[in-house]
Amino acid sequence: MKTAFVGLGAMGYPMAGHLNTHFKTLVWNRTAEKAHQHSNEFGTVVLDGFAMLQDVDVLFTCLPTTREVIEVLEQVLPYLKKGGLWIDCTSGDPVKSLEVAQRLQAAEVTYLDAPVSGGTTGAIQGTLSVMVGGPRAEIERAQPVLQSFASKVVHVGEVGSGHAVKAVNNMLLAINLLSAGEGLVALAKLGVNLEAALEVINVSSGRSNATQNLIPQRVLTREFPATFALGLLAKDAGIALDVARSSGASTPLFALTESLYKAARDTVGAAEDHTAVVKMLETWNGVVLK
Ligand code: NDP
Repeated sequence: MKTAFVGLGAMGYPMAGHLNTHFKTLVWNRTAEKAHQHSNEFGTVVLDGFAMLQDVDVLFTCLPTTREVIEVLEQVLPYLKKGGLWIDCTSGDPVKSLEVAQRLQAAEVTYLDAPVSGGTTGAIQGTLSVMVGGPRAEIERAQPVLQSFASKVVHVGEVGSGHAVKAVNNMLLAINLLSAGEGLVALAKLGVNLEAALEVINVSSGRSNATQNLIPQRVLTREFPATFALGLLAKDAGIALDVARSSGASTPLFALTESLYKAARDTVGAAEDHTAVVKMLETWNGVVLK
């Protein structure tokens, strides 16, 4: 089986490296130097013109949003192999992806939405979780390629369901991070030692990935390593709100959280790590969490 990977960003770069250990993999990146660096590091083949996709069985994309996926689609559509798979690991938009799936179906290519979770650490270790939407038989066909970088692959429903589940997952992350930040800002203003507070919260019912890992490792150290951009989490919160609205559910917390992340993206900076959302709370409250 021959594969290709488009989008060698923080996630795609290591994912494509794992893929190439099992399947011959071609790589393409908007900034071409990264593709050449990838080829030197992992032995992948740089895609030198989209005509090279003609004998590729599985094409992966891992791009910021569905908008960039559609931009790539416009360029590669004439060259795709009939009967092939397009596996989109972007945390994308379920509705727009349905349109992508329909256009690909007309070209006899099956689209699967397969966003991932586990962060850059999971991508480097090859232990990502994948939530996949699409026809069951095609997902079975995709199992070997997905398992090259994932330790868990779950079929969550029809096309678009993977993106919907991912958006809700990331909304939970966004809420947990913000609520933990608010709690710690309040405790800091009271003069409570934050390490002591987290020591007990993390063996109590209020714990979360935010209190156990993100805040101690990224916020209290003041490192904020930019592995997952605040702009991308704000985008995911927007998708989650759209998903909830289109379902007819009443989700006021989603709406509030989405606006707070947009405000943080625009004031703190879209390229900052997602944990830098707490800097907005710190500014409002005149404290620094450390
Ligand atoms: P990055 O910003 O690190 O990488 C984005 C990639 O997309 C780069 O290869 C970039 O190319 C490429 N790109 C951007 N715009 C275009 C365009 N117009 N045309 C073609 N290529 C383009 O993002 P991540 O790897 O962090 O995220 C990718 C996806 O995975 C996102 O949807 C994100 O939400 C999701 N995700 C991220 C996680 C993380 O921890 N970082 C965890 C789980 C999911 P170039 O090098 O030229 O800029």
